[in-house]
Amino acid sequence: MTIEVRWGAATHQGRVRSSNQDAVLAGPTVFAVADGMGGHAGGEIASAIAIAGLASVDGPMDSAARVVAALDQVNQEVLLRARADTDLRGMGTTIAGIAIGRDDAVTVFNLGDARAYRFRDHELVQVSEDHSVVAEMVRDGSLSPDAARIHPQRSVVTRALGISEKIEPLVAVHPVVPGDRFLLCSDGLFTEIDGAGLASMLDSDEPIERLAQQLVEGAIDHGGRDNVSVVIVDVQSLESVGGLDEDTSPTNPVVVAPSDDPARKGLITGVPSFDPPGSGSLRLVEACDPTEAT
Ligand code: MG
Repeated sequence: MTIEVRWGAATHQGRVRSSNQDAVLAGPTVFAVADGMGGHAGGEIASAIAIAGLASVDGPMDSAARVVAALDQVNQEVLLRARADTDLRGMGTTIAGIAIGRDDAVTVFNLGDARAYRFRDHELVQVSEDHSVVAEMVRDGSLSPDAARIHPQRSVVTRALGISEKIEPLVAVHPVVPGDRFLLCSDGLFTEIDGAGLASMLDSDEPIERLAQQLVEGAIDHGGRDNVSVVIVDVQSLESVGGLDEDTSPTNPVVVAPSDDPARKGLITGVPSFDPPGSGSLRLVEACDPTEAT
């Protein structure tokens, strides 16, 4: 079986931050958002290393074990860079993503408070696990989910890439059906738009690349106090792969990093093409700056 997906992605620095420390990986088989942290340029570099590392992992990330191995490898890359440059000490990055599996399943992974959601039958379910101070308070009952969204410590994460030798990612295999829609996002999205708002926006027939932009624009309209990044992945179909001369080699991923790319200052969307299947070329479309949109 092979899972055919379609995706859209967008990222923006928002209204307040002077740089975009988020980075995005869109396809063809791994999708992720990373939200960097650390002084100076550290956050941008940590998220860029993580995304570039995931994009260049040898072999498919088509099982939970391979996803764990890839995250371990990327963690080492961030740690090595932080140790090599005193200006980058303490940098790290949250990450949330999905890897397309061999069978009718995807592997969801995350560290920190970047999130993965599954939208199915008009219902939005968070399939990642928040590793943050406020999430732990919600879990032990000392804070309500609504209070967590506005808590002053809402951005303090308890797990991330690049912080320690040993990582404890959430890695979970989820069977999929055609019509499933996955949303990956940095906290700049869900701190501005609550779950009900995200669900109603995702319940849409808009082209997927436009929908990714609309979510980012929505977060900016609600304040845009943080960098905001979105990847939407739609499961189109599950197909048996025949034995003929099918070209199933991966296409080039869209890597929206590092931030010295001038195009990253604006809104960037990755628009995949699946025509013909298996050889989907990708093009980057720079859209209008939503902060200047009416
Ligand atoms: Mg953030």
